[in-house]
Amino acid sequence: MSHAQSVSIATDPPINLMGLDPVALAALMSEWGDKPFRGKQLSRWIHQRGVSNFQDMTDLALAFRERLTTRCEVACSSVLARHVSRDLTHKWLFDVGAGNAVETVYIPEDDRGTLCVSSQAGCAVACPFCSTGYQGFNRNLSVAEIIGQLWWARHDLTQSGAVTRLSQVDSESAPDQRIISNVVFMGMGEPLLNYDAVLGSLRLMLDDLAYGLSRRRVTISTSGVVPMMDRLGQDCPVALAVSLHAPNDALRDRLVPLNKKYPIAELLAACNRYLAHAPRDFITFEYIMLDSVNDELSHARELIDLAQQVPCKINLIPFNPFAQSGLKRSSANRVRAFSQCLQDAGIVTTVRKTRGDDIDAACGQLAGDIQDRTRAKQRRENGIIQSKLQDIPVVESRQ
Ligand code: SAH
Ligand code: SF4
Repeated sequence: MSHAQSVSIATDPPINLMGLDPVALAALMSEWGDKPFRGKQLSRWIHQRGVSNFQDMTDLALAFRERLTTRCEVACSSVLARHVSRDLTHKWLFDVGAGNAVETVYIPEDDRGTLCVSSQAGCAVACPFCSTGYQGFNRNLSVAEIIGQLWWARHDLTQSGAVTRLSQVDSESAPDQRIISNVVFMGMGEPLLNYDAVLGSLRLMLDDLAYGLSRRRVTISTSGVVPMMDRLGQDCPVALAVSLHAPNDALRDRLVPLNKKYPIAELLAACNRYLAHAPRDFITFEYIMLDSVNDELSHARELIDLAQQVPCKINLIPFNPFAQSGLKRSSANRVRAFSQCLQDAGIVTTVRKTRGDDIDAACGQLAGDIQDRTRAKQRRENGIIQSKLQDIPVVESRQ
């Protein structure tokens, strides 16, 4: 393990234990000549009790605490802003340096508490309906920065007492009254384009010495990075949501530009391969409802053809508009008709409720107010993204 070299002189930067899973902590302990169970103790203190000050870890020997204090830290990104919505949705804006910020959202519901985490500052996929896509790609988050969102949110929610979880009634699994019972990678960034750090954070989320979440309650949402879907299936299969958004390649090329690299047929094949390992026996397809772009009944019929090729559920997402997109949300009637068409064909279909819209915490609105200092800004100024939007076919006729 490489940490040994980095702790050999006192002036080295401290090792951030936030990003080390229990196996890595145990390895660090053995590098130091300490018993591996020290790693387990540390993991419980950090992730289960939310303690960052080594002096407060009272069952550790004093000399060991001193060594930790000189060589290590437990740090997450600092919070720039915190908002609480009328519906008790929480949103935190984390400073990840160099003018970049990422957002984390907590959505309390009767039967679960879901944390929506970010995996990258910005995103390279550049979907024209997504405000993160407009920022362009800034950088990957580290394991510590990803897991730090969960660490901080749990600490903050517990401390503030703003949310009291009702008892959980879940027919599929034992009651889980933890304040954060589910995690979804539906914040900023494409998680499968930051594979190693996302995998490290997943391992901590699932580990019984850290957060102990069930695989079924942790969901990766991807725009369809096919090779990495295969790797995830091998390395750490969790629930999978795939952002489909269009029922044919011509439209998906425009709405999810990654489709040009991994078109729909390849994506569906990868979904079926993933299901061999997945903790759930279906894939969730996300489908954003954009007025007169992808919400015709003819699109619904094409979508039925695709949905019949993969065991799946479809989650229709009403588009959350933001200033630059030039796109509009489908009307409630149109969403209803689209949904009915899918259901009549026997496809399990849900429509996502919009939460936290008074604090801009809805999907795709994240960090909309962050200073944009990226390549995408230049591209936009040069009219490239704008012209891509104009390419999207606008269907005038109404059903
Ligand atoms: N990059 C991943 C995960 C982050 S985006 C992905 O694309 O799946 C999470 C979800 O939010 C995706 O389904 C995405 O399509 C959706 N989303 C993005 N912008 C949105 C917007 N403006 N309104 C509603 N949903 C949006
Ligand atoms: Fe990236 Fe997902 Fe936004 Fe597309 S929808 S730009 S993949 S974060």
